Amino acid sequence: MTFDAQAVYTELHAHFRGRIRRNESLSRHCTFGVGGPADVWIALDSRDELMSLVRLCAERRWPLLLVGNGTNTLYADAGVRGIVARVVLNKYTIEEHGDGTALLLAEAGISWPRLLNELAPLGWGGLEFGPGIPGTLGGGVISNAGAHNSDMSQVLEWIEVFDARGSSVNRSSVPLVQRYQRNELDLSYRHSRFRELRRAGRFCWSPDRAGRHEGHDPR
Ligand SMILES: Cc1cc2nc3c(=O)[nH]c(=O)nc-3n(C[C@H](O)[C@H](O)[C@H](O)COP(=O)(O)OP(=O)(O)OC[C@H]3O[C@@H](n4cnc5c(N)ncnc54)[C@H](O)[C@@H]3O)c2cc1C
Repeated sequence: MTFDAQAVYTELHAHFRGRIRRNESLSRHCTFGVGGPADVWIALDSRDELMSLVRLCAERRWPLLLVGNGTNTLYADAGVRGIVARVVLNKYTIEEHGDGTALLLAEAGISWPRLLNELAPLGWGGLEFGPGIPGTLGGGVISNAGAHNSDMSQVLEWIEVFDARGSSVNRSSVPLVQRYQRNELDLSYRHSRFRELRRAGRFCWSPDRAGRHEGHDPR
């Protein structure tokens, strides 16, 4: 595989403009402030962009690392060869069931602190373990984030994943969007199935929306 970083940057710049950078220092994008440059760094802020990039990287065999807020990431001083894409998709909706419960549908890049700060004043409960956990929802799914004897496995209903294998296996240009129910995620203490799969380097993915149904409206 050859990865011509300058050519990739030039090709993608027409779309991403101010959200793509060449030789971006990764120390600016992780809590611990360490790490060398990414060949190409991109901020993704829509589902279409995420799918397009995953598809393109799968087709061209470009290395792609998807990240959230960088609170659980240590980058090497040598940096990262290929593309580092920060998922900043941050929309969410609340589907009320009419019985005091609701399903929260949220994109992977939303920040935990923001989500909690906005939901609490609305009177919703269910995520009380969350305050103090930095980072994004997507990053939280990877490690089954939690605190105070609770974690995401208690409230997560399902996630959707963009699986780049959809491009190579089916010879399709569209990544597979696959929904995993909570019991398929192998969630345990700071663990999910995706940690193992990442280590094996078997696919590149991103959770898109995560839901819960245990909230209640105390008003
Ligand atoms: C001061 C401090 C306190 C913390 N306290 C807690 C705590 O109380 N409880 C707890 O559980 N954790 C805690 N953490 C760890 C961290 O907050 C969580 O792991 C958090 O969920 C990481 O989210 P992130 O968006 O920063 O992920 P990142 O650090 O950006 O990414 C972590 C991993 O997930 C992958 N990833 C992230 N988003 C996506 C995506 N959308 N698609 C595909 N892959 C993705 C990345 O490639 C990387 O491998 C703490 C960290 C710090 C620095």
